[in-house]
Amino acid sequence: MKQVFNFNAGPAALPKEVLQKAQVELLNYQESGLSVMELSHRSMLYENIQNHATERLRKLMNIPADYDILYMQGGASLQFSAVPMNFLTEGKTANYCLSGSWSEKALKEAKKIGRTHIASSSKEENYSHIPEHLELSENPAYLHITSNNTIFGTQWKTTPELDAEVPLIADMSSDILSRTIPVEKYSLIYAGAQKNLGPSGVTVVIVKKELLKRCPDHLPTMLNYQTFAKNGSLYNTPPTFSIYMLSLVLDWVADQGGVAQIEAMNAEKAELIYHVIDSSDSFYKGPAQPGSRSNMNVTFTLPTDELTKKFLYEASEHGFIGLSGHRMIGGCRASIYNAVPLAHCERLAQFMTDFRTNFM
Ligand code: PMP
Repeated sequence: MKQVFNFNAGPAALPKEVLQKAQVELLNYQESGLSVMELSHRSMLYENIQNHATERLRKLMNIPADYDILYMQGGASLQFSAVPMNFLTEGKTANYCLSGSWSEKALKEAKKIGRTHIASSSKEENYSHIPEHLELSENPAYLHITSNNTIFGTQWKTTPELDAEVPLIADMSSDILSRTIPVEKYSLIYAGAQKNLGPSGVTVVIVKKELLKRCPDHLPTMLNYQTFAKNGSLYNTPPTFSIYMLSLVLDWVADQGGVAQIEAMNAEKAELIYHVIDSSDSFYKGPAQPGSRSNMNVTFTLPTDELTKKFLYEASEHGFIGLSGHRMIGGCRASIYNAVPLAHCERLAQFMTDFRTNFM
């Protein structure tokens, strides 16, 4: 098989060991004679898979007992609507930190539901940094942040400090499980699985039980968080295979030594590539300001469009996949989620160095 180095932004690289385990179990899951895909979601075998995923995630992320873990569909994009539908109540204002396109999209959906306010924004600076300085509205329903900006390559390094009555809600689609976070400071965290958690198809929601009391009864059943919380995410058919893959990924994270070890490895991987950028005499430039740099998505540009094209072409010839920047902003981007091995980042760093040397 051709050796490739997968730097896709999502769906993204999965741990090889996870894919191999899924392959071994594909046709006959635990001597059932069935594939996981063929199991009833009401069967004990399936329920065990889902419960295992939930317990693993709770332990890995240190999720307190007064939080529910829900499995939803519709991606993070559906959460953009679900969050305001459930928590932006009459007389309140939803507060958003604008740190990139995904937070803009989240805000756009909230505007359809009720009153909104931009608590901070780095739009004027091309989203080159995290807008940490907050100015909240009166009567805030919640504050929404995007912890990692997949397109612009920036990441919150701190957790916003809010008054106890203001729920903090975060889209962690592109950095969940990549570092230790104080879950107890958040009221709700959501993440599409397809970067650090598994394949696409499932969205993980971690929500404080207290907050669920605010969900209005009149909402469509499948958009009400209570439906998922009350029914153990089994009100209807969940994405069973995606949740099975999630459970395998979580086992893999535990095998690596847990989130703290993963975090240290991620920092080392990111440093390798940022170092090449910083020591390239501005041949490579990183649009993200150093204090806001993401350890998940490293964005960089080359001196001209022509060189960018040449770089991407040669990279693909060398087996590097997924290095073009998001179609909205161009340039290059290496997404180095948990499952991207250190060795692949070393290969990329070497390739970048060689490309520059050959150009000089
Ligand atoms: N938020 C962030 C931070 C993302 O990176 C993405 C997808 N790349 C989304 C939301 C949208 O996710 P989905 O495609 O699961 O709706």
